[in-house]
Amino acid sequence: MANSKYEYVRFFEQPDSLLPNTWIVVRIDGRGFTKLCAQYGFEKPNDKRAIDLMNAAAKAVMADLPDIVLAYGVSDEYSFVFHKTCQLFERRASKLVSTVVSTFTAFYLHLWPTFFTGGLVDDVRLVVPLLPTFDGRAVCYPSVQNLRDYLSWRQVDCHINNLYNTTFWALVQKGGMDSVEATELLKGTFSADKNEILFSRFQINYNNEPEMYKKGSVVFRDYELVNPAGSNAAQTAEAADNVAEPPTVSKSKAESDKKRRAKARITVEHIDIIKDEFWDRRPWLLT
Ligand code: ATP
Ligand code: ATP
Ligand code: MG
Ligand code: MG
Ligand code: MG
Ligand code: MG
Repeated sequence: MANSKYEYVRFFEQPDSLLPNTWIVVRIDGRGFTKLCAQYGFEKPNDKRAIDLMNAAAKAVMADLPDIVLAYGVSDEYSFVFHKTCQLFERRASKLVSTVVSTFTAFYLHLWPTFFTGGLVDDVRLVVPLLPTFDGRAVCYPSVQNLRDYLSWRQVDCHINNLYNTTFWALVQKGGMDSVEATELLKGTFSADKNEILFSRFQINYNNEPEMYKKGSVVFRDYELVNPAGSNAAQTAEAADNVAEPPTVSKSKAESDKKRRAKARITVEHIDIIKDEFWDRRPWLLT
């Protein structure tokens, strides 16, 4: 492109590349979903269609961006973890965040009819002006411990909110309270109190609530490399991979890793990511 006298405006653009060698978390969150839930009649406290839709959109984002190693979702939010070696968009924050947000939103809208029409209840069609949109931010975590603490923070938040919401909506839907009364009753209560209210008033054992609601959703690439006992499964899988596509001397490890990531099955599970077990069984995730 020829130079023009307008070229100088380029220098107004500020660099925003994220700290090298750190785990990048892009967290997106639904804008005004409290209102959106009401408009589209989400079931309370948990609308399964909406969670399945969030998970499907997250899987699509991960399939589109192989640099993402894991994602964790709850309610109207999703956290996407980019590997610390990620070089996508030269690690520019605005590029990474906007790409994740728009890819997620595009799939959320595209997949909406899959989850909200043709079911047992009436079709729910999106109508202007209340369309689903998301905001996003990027945060860098320098150590695996920091990253795991971040994810633990989100999963603990999921637990606290879900216990509160489950109790609140039981009081409203089954206990005949209005929202003011239910809020008042729950003010200052601890977890044990809420468990007790659920059990004694509604015969609900919180432990038996669906894992999807209690734990949120973890999306990751399942290489099926490691069994709990630890074996040579990793090498076997690598060998199998190489049969399909023999590595050339020039092919860097990073490149072949990237190809393997892109081919791996993306799974959604509702499990504990606070304890070590999840990570111990999947050592490839954070290495
Ligand atoms: P903001 O724009 O600031 O994020 P918000 O209204 O989206 O505002 P959040 O704190 O993000 O506020 O809360 C999300 C709301 O959406 C909560 O009330 C939550 O219960 C509700 N929600 C999200 N997903 C579901 C779902 N699957 N089923 C029922 N309610 C849901
Ligand atoms: P990147 O992801 O880096 O932005 P890109 O392929 O989108 O890659 P751009 O520099 O943004 O690269 O170029 C956009 C391309 O889309 C150009 O080739 C442009 O000619 C084409 N394009 C955009 N809008 C139209 C249009 N309305 N009709 C025809 N071609 C279009
Ligand atoms: Mg928000
Ligand atoms: Mg929100
Ligand atoms: Mg939220
Ligand atoms: Mg372009």
